[in-house]
Amino acid sequence: MQDIHHGGCLCGTIRFKARGELRELIFCHCSQCRKQTGLYYAATNVQDQDFKLKGAENVTWYRASDSASRGFCRQCGSALFWKADGSDYTSILAGAFDKPTVLKPGYHIFCEDQGDFYEIKDDLPKFAAGRV
Ligand SMILES: [Zn+2]
Ligand SMILES: [Zn+2]
Repeated sequence: MQDIHHGGCLCGTIRFKARGELRELIFCHCSQCRKQTGLYYAATNVQDQDFKLKGAENVTWYRASDSASRGFCRQCGSALFWKADGSDYTSILAGAFDKPTVLKPGYHIFCEDQGDFYEIKDDLPKFAAGRV
């Protein structure tokens, strides 16, 4: 698999490359994701060995819970990454990738906690909390 996927933040200070097949997108409707993005989170992930980051010194890692951090650009504020402690995978927000992407929708999680100003109208699987 030699697929290379490029992306970055709004201001271009942070650029990344992700190599290989990207996981289907998970849409997370939890309150943290809503606060951070303004709507809900759509993310794929990549193993750290297949992930190259340029401008890493401009990523601020916000400690969102006692088990994970959320990375954003300190120059332009773009929400970019999510990382669970001890995991060798980094989640990357779908919107950070340059078009054309090969990203495909997967399923919804934390639907029990979703915002009250929109509906989920697609036929993708929905989980009340995390995926069991
Ligand atoms: Zn930026
Ligand atoms: Zn979430």
